[in-house]
Amino acid sequence: MKLISACLIGCECRYDQKSCRTHLGEQLLSQGKAIPVCPEQLGGLPTPRPPAEIVGGDGFDVLDGRAKIVDNQGNDVTDIFWLALIKH
Ligand code: SF4
Repeated sequence: MKLISACLIGCECRYDQKSCRTHLGEQLLSQGKAIPVCPEQLGGLPTPRPPAEIVGGDGFDVLDGRAKIVDNQGNDVTDIFWLALIKH
């Protein structure tokens, strides 16, 4: 069993309240091989929400505390993404 981003199976949980449905995602779900989750929502972020991106590195740098995640309004949302990781 694998976890799959919920937006890839058609859940409208992206920041813009849209999905990005993929055939592979739907196939894995229909075969019972994947569980859809949206870590951003599980971390407490609303939908829709401001888009966010990593600043100062990549995902590994965020995990090591060398980079952060900032939304397009300048808010540091790194802790919210950490919360999503901890809940998993
Ligand atoms: S966090 Fe949610 S919206 Fe973002 S890629 Fe994952 S499932 Fe999609």
